This record gives sequence, C-alpha cells and structure tokens, in this order.
Amino acid sequence: MDRRHFVIVGGGGAGVEAAAALRQADPEARIAVWTDEEVPYYARIRLGEVVDGRSRPEDLFLRLPSWWKDQGIELRLGVTVEGIDPGQGRVQDGEGTWTPWDALLLATGARPFLPPIPGIDRPEVVTLRRMKDALAIRDRLAGSRRAVVLGGGLLGLELAASLAQAGIAVTVVEAAPWLLPRQVDPEGGEVLRGLLARRGIDFRLGTTAGSLEGGASGGCRVVLSSGESLEADLVPVMAGVRSETSLARAAGLDVASGIRVDDGMRTSAPGVFAAGDCAEHRSGIYGFWSAATEQGRAAGRAMATGDSPYQGSVRTTTLKVTDVALFSVGDLQGPAVRVERHREGDRYRCVRLDEEGRVVGAVLIGDLGLRKALMLAMMSRKAWEPLQGGTP
Ligand SMILES: Cc1cc2nc3c(=O)[nH]c(=O)nc-3n(C[C@H](O)[C@H](O)[C@H](O)COP(=O)(O)OP(=O)(O)OC[C@H]3O[C@@H](n4cnc5c(N)ncnc54)[C@H](O)[C@@H]3O)c2cc1C
Repeated sequence: MDRRHFVIVGGGGAGVEAAAALRQADPEARIAVWTDEEVPYYARIRLGEVVDGRSRPEDLFLRLPSWWKDQGIELRLGVTVEGIDPGQGRVQDGEGTWTPWDALLLATGARPFLPPIPGIDRPEVVTLRRMKDALAIRDRLAGSRRAVVLGGGLLGLELAASLAQAGIAVTVVEAAPWLLPRQVDPEGGEVLRGLLARRGIDFRLGTTAGSLEGGASGGCRVVLSSGESLEADLVPVMAGVRSETSLARAAGLDVASGIRVDDGMRTSAPGVFAAGDCAEHRSGIYGFWSAATEQGRAAGRAMATGDSPYQGSVRTTTLKVTDVALFSVGDLQGPAVRVERHREGDRYRCVRLDEEGRVVGAVLIGDLGLRKALMLAMMSRKAWEPLQGGTP
C-alpha cells in the first residue's frame, strides 16, 4: 500500500499534538507540519515571560530538534498557506506551489481582535499572540513608561503583570464591572483586583476605550467612555481573539464563528479536518491550551483511523501571575441552584452547584488546595460534599 500523506497547517498545540498522534497511529505515513511562524512548537501560554525577560524564546520550546527527526515528521517553518483545494485534495504554499494530500488538518489557531475604534492603527497599539509579538513588545519596554492595557481578561491581566514587573506604570481598562468576567464571579473579581493593585496595577472597570488620540507628551491619549483620558506609550489590546478561518471560508467549508467540526474533528469537506482555536465543536470554541491539544490528538487519531473520539473538554483557567494563585473551572455565569462562597482576606472560594448538588463551576483564589477535588467532581458528575465555612 502507498504511504499516506498528511499535511497539517499550523505548528501550535493542536497541529503538533495531531502530528504526534498520527505518527503513533500510522508509523509509515508521510506527515508534514507547515507553519508561518519562524520558531518551532513552543508554549504559547508562557509568552509573557519573554515580554518581561524571565525567559528566552528557546526556553519555551516544547520539542527538541531530535524529536522531529526521530518521529520522521517534516516541519516547515515560515511557510504561509495561501489556499486549500478540497476537491483536488491539495494545499498551496506562499510561493504558489500546490502539494497533494490524503488528509489535511487546519490547526490555524486564532488572531487578536482589534475593536474598531478611531486610532486603533496608532503605533502605540500592540497585540500578543505570536513569538514575534512578544519580542516586539519586549524591545519597546526601554522606551516606555506608561501602558494602558485594553481588556481585563486572563491575557490582559497576565500581560499587565509582566509590564508592571518590567517597571512600567500599568492601567487595565475592562468593560465589565469586574475582572476576568468570563472565569470569575464578581466577588472573586474584587479579591483579584485587590491582589493585583498591590502589585502596582491600576484599574478602570465598567468603561471602554472610545478613541486613541495623539498624547500631550508624544505618546497616545486613551479616551475612555467614562470621559477620563489616560496617557500611554504602549497600548496592548487584549480584547479577545477570533478564530483564524480564512482558508476554510475561501474554500467554501461550513464556518460559523469557527470551522464547524464533528466528533471526529471532520469539517464539511471530505478529507479536511480542523482542531484547536480555529475549530467550532458542538457550537463551542474553547480557546484554551488543553482543549487545543486534546482536539489535536483526537484529529490525528481520526485522520489515521476514521474514529470519532472527541467528546468535548473541561474549561479550566489558571492565572499565571507570580504569587497570585487563581483557578477557575466550568460555568460561572449560567444557572446554579446553590452557590457556596467563602472569603477570608485574600483567600476566596466559590462553588456553584446544580439541582443534583453537582459542581457546574468553581473559583479558587489564594489557596488552590481543592483544585483536583473540584476537577474530579466535575468530571465524575458526582454530588459535591458541602465544605466547612461555606455560605449556602
Ligand atoms: C499570551 C497568551 C497566554 C495564554 N495563556 C493561556 C493559559 O494560561 N491557559 C490556556 O489554556 N490558554 C492560554 N492561551 C491560549 C492558548 O495559547 C491557545 O488556546 C492555544 O495555543 C491554541 O492552540 P492552537 O494550536 O489551536 O493555535 P495556535 O497555538 O495559535 O497555533 C496556530 C498556528 O497556526 C499558524 N497559522 C495560522 N494561519 C496559518 C497559515 N495560513 N499558514 C501557516 N500557518 C498558519 C499560526 O501562526 C500559529 O503558529 C494563551 C494565549 C496567549 C497568546
């Protein structure tokens, strides 16, 4: 039998874990990973460490060069895929060359969302998604004194902490009335704000940036909807991401917010699969690391064997700010019959339960001792034993 040829577009968590799973399932296949970044597979979630100088780019690499060789997986760096042709089973690189495949995986991730406000194209505006973004921000720190971070979600807060660590005066602007609105309840958001304020980070909550204008001293003036203006040399925009679906759309695949896939990570086009931040599974886009790698592994298996192994991932969040421990899991906004809360100084716990007493979501701040128990409770769907000190 001829060796099958698998091409994977995207060298992040979903793409590389898919390649590894493919190799395990098919020792003979030709497997190629094409990515437009110039660096091999790295821990994207640790990019903040490159920004503030705690790590060098190579400290984040997740596979030794020998791994690619031993696995017999071809890695093409700096290659932008320009088009896919599911009908003919081929993919086009930036030089216009078409390459045939037996199955193709789109693992193209997501790109930062830039809100359409006047001045968003100003030179002070930066985003953080790729290694080259982290290096560009790091290189600008020496000439910057003040930063205004737009977005008080996980990535915005982590970047704010990195900038504060590097000696920059930082203000975070968040539209919601509390921090981490998607992962934390309002009271937890308040505890977190206190912890970060003590690290020198300032906050403007419940307001948005209306425009970015020329500043008094050469930088930028961020004009808020509250009427206040803030001066900044750097304006990191961390206002969420959008799935990178352009190749799929252009090829006529079924795309909603992400590329629609079934439990086998199959798209609407035969032979084309999708996984990670670009994929929409059962109407949901996860947008986090463990889901991307789980989907990648499922896609690799499905491409090699035809299985449909993916049943969804559990949503978890861990804030990676030194000395600020925060963990969140599940749903913090949907219906809950009972909410168990406990707050003691900087330590906070919130557990949300359904009518059967099962955990639907939880937040821990300061003390993450219950993290494993909560994860297990969520996954096993067993009733949660009420805790001492909880308020029903
Ligand atoms: C700063 C930061 C911190 C984060 N922290 C956390 C965290 O603490 N916990 C967590 O769970 N998640 C975190 N995330 C999110 C997490 O990194 C993503 O969910 C995960 O990396 C998604 O993996 P992916 O493989 O789907 O996409 P990506 O890792 O984005 O990989 C996609 C790759 O495809 C490439 N690509 C796209 N289009 C093309 C094309 N046409 N041709 C060639 N290559 C292409 C991209 O350049 C990219 O290299 C963080 C993200 C960032 C940016």
